[in-house]
Amino acid sequence: MQVDAATRVCGLFGYPVGHSFSPAMHNAALRALGINWLYVAFAVRPAHLPAAVAAVRALDMPGANVTIPHKEAVLPLVDEVSDAARLAGAVNTIVLRDGVLFGDNTDGRGFLRAVAEAGFDPHGKTVVIIGAGGAARAVGTALAGAGVARFVLINRTIERARALGDLLASLGPEVRVFPWSELPRPSAALAALFEEAGIVVQTTSLGMHPAANISVPIAPALFHRNQLVCDLVYNPPRTRFLEGAEAAGARVLNGLGMLLHQGALALEAWTGRPAPVEVMRAALERQLAGGKE
Ligand code: NAP
Repeated sequence: MQVDAATRVCGLFGYPVGHSFSPAMHNAALRALGINWLYVAFAVRPAHLPAAVAAVRALDMPGANVTIPHKEAVLPLVDEVSDAARLAGAVNTIVLRDGVLFGDNTDGRGFLRAVAEAGFDPHGKTVVIIGAGGAARAVGTALAGAGVARFVLINRTIERARALGDLLASLGPEVRVFPWSELPRPSAALAALFEEAGIVVQTTSLGMHPAANISVPIAPALFHRNQLVCDLVYNPPRTRFLEGAEAAGARVLNGLGMLLHQGALALEAWTGRPAPVEVMRAALERQLAGGKE
C-alpha cells in the first residue's frame, strides 16, 4: 500500500483502540478493492470526541467507525442519523456525504447478516436476549424490524432489561422480562420460553478475553438442538457459554460474523461498492489466530 498525495484516511474512533481488529479487516478490503485509502485506529479521549467528529469533515475523510466508549456520545455530534442509529441509541459508523455527517448503526444489520449466513430467519420467532446494554439494543431493534414475534429479556440489572423491553414492545413484538437469578435456576415459565426459542443471543461482555473463564451462569438444560445460540463475543472464538450450548446439541455462532458484517456494511456506505467479504473474513481470522497482516 503506497501513501501518496491522493491517499485519504478513514478509521476508528475509540478509547482504547489498541487491540481492535478493524484496521486489519478494512485495510485488507481497501487493498483488494484497489482504493487509495488508509484505515487508522485513533485513540480519542472522551473530551476530544467533538473535535474528532469535526475532523471527519475538516479532513475530508470518507467516514469513520465509532466504538466504546463513544457510540452513544457521538449521536448528537452528527448532522443526520439513520433510523437504525436512532433506535439503537448509538452510532457506530459516520459517513461524510456531500459535506453532511451521517450517523448510522450497522451492528444490528451486521448481526442479521451473520445469522442469515447461518441459515436462520428470525421472522415470527421467539428470541432470548441475555444482556441489555448497547449491543443488546442494536441487535434487539434490528431483530424487531426483521419480524420477531416475542422477546425474552434477561439482564443482571433488571431495570435496564425493562427499559429495553419497553422500546422493543413499542416496535410491535411481545416482550417478557426475567431476573438474572433465573438463568441458573429457571422457573417453569422461563424454561418453556427457552424451549420455544429459535435463537438465544448472549450480548453481555462475560467470557471475553482476558476473562474467558468467567461465564454466564446458565442451566445447561435450557439449551436444545433446535436452537441457534449466538455469543456476540468473538475472542475467544468458543466461549464457555457456546461450549455449554454445543454440548447440549445446539448450533452455535460467535460474534465474528457480526463484526465482519457491520464492517462490510460501513465500507459499502463509504465506498458505494460491494465489500470483499471473504477477504475481510480471512483478515479477521488471521487477527484472531494472532497472525500479523
Ligand atoms: P454495555 O453497553 O456496557 O453492556 C454490557 C452488558 O453486559 C450489560 O447487559 C451488563 O449488565 C452486562 N454485564 C457486564 N458485566 C456483567 C457481569 N459481571 N455480570 C452480568 N452481566 C454483566 O456493552 P455492549 O456495547 O452492549 O457490549 C457487550 C458485548 O458485546 C461486549 O463483549 C462487546 O465486545 C460485544 N459486542 C460485539 C460486537 C460484534 O461485532 N461481535 C458488537 C458490539 C458489541 P448490566 O446492565 O447489569 O450492567
